[in-house]
Amino acid sequence: MEEAKKHCVSVVIPLYNEERSLDELYRRLTAVLEGAAARHELIFVDDGSTDGSLEIIRRLRSGDRRVKIIGFSRNYGKSPALSEGFRAARGDVVVTIDADLQDNPDEIPGLIARLDDGYDLVSGWKQDRKDPITKTWPSKLFNAVTSLASGIRLHDFNCGLKAYRVDVVKRVRVYGELHRFIPVLAGWEGFRIGEQRVSHSERRFGRSKYGASRLLNGMFDLMTVMFITRRATTPLHLFGRIAFLFLAGGGLINLYFLVQWIMGEGLHVRPLMVLGLIMIVISIQIGSIGLLAELQSSTMQQTFSYREYEVDDQ
Ligand code: UDP
Ligand code: MG
Repeated sequence: MEEAKKHCVSVVIPLYNEERSLDELYRRLTAVLEGAAARHELIFVDDGSTDGSLEIIRRLRSGDRRVKIIGFSRNYGKSPALSEGFRAARGDVVVTIDADLQDNPDEIPGLIARLDDGYDLVSGWKQDRKDPITKTWPSKLFNAVTSLASGIRLHDFNCGLKAYRVDVVKRVRVYGELHRFIPVLAGWEGFRIGEQRVSHSERRFGRSKYGASRLLNGMFDLMTVMFITRRATTPLHLFGRIAFLFLAGGGLINLYFLVQWIMGEGLHVRPLMVLGLIMIVISIQIGSIGLLAELQSSTMQQTFSYREYEVDDQ
């Protein structure tokens, strides 16, 4: 068998109060990467931990300069932590992994091998997820809805363990809590998305940072993502259509009353008349929101990701 190609691998590890997992995580990651990568760096992004996490990664760095530290002054969230890690990454392959030892570092070579099969992003799939049922069921629903709405067919959007070609992480903008939608954002840019089953463990130390409330937020975020991927550059096409429907409905209703009035019938306020008026007011509101969104996107510099760019100098 042909020897697998070796990459320079940047591992991005977002962490928030994970002091008891970090030493073992460092040991296992280093053991795996020394075998599987040409070179590697471990970018620990401390997301404002209040326990001893930062001291531990400082100690790790003092013994190994492949350990990099980005320490936030407060807890910003997993998305900003990943985003900063992506900015610092210098490898040609970037791997993300949770810091709590729930993801298994031994899966990393398998994910990277799939990149070599031609994928730009390979997402882990925790088929046998070791979390309480209050998390696994909402998460199943979330994954089904996201897959359906986005057209990106994955079983597990929110797996912490993923491998990327570096172009992908330099391209997608991960803010707020959009880290759950990186495959959607990347897929929309034309990157090829793959999936690979990975093993998963129970959390041994510390506490989960996310509860059931993330389902609701996740649904709002899905709306955001659908909007920014499909409509960001032409918002009035969407808002204008909706406004037009309301205007047409309200207009027809009022036309009916106008005709009655012209025919000499006395007019009385009727429920239908109120509906017609409200529909016209709503259409003006939605139309103006569309215009504002259009104004916003006209000042936005659109940038592109290229598959090829061969242009001769002038
Ligand atoms: N995390 C983070 N900032 C936060 C919340 C979480 O950096 O505000 C990290 C956390 O330390 C862990 C990963 O993101 O490494 C996944 O979080 P967690 O294990 O709490 O999520 P779960 O596995 O329960 O879905
Ligand atoms: Mg976890």
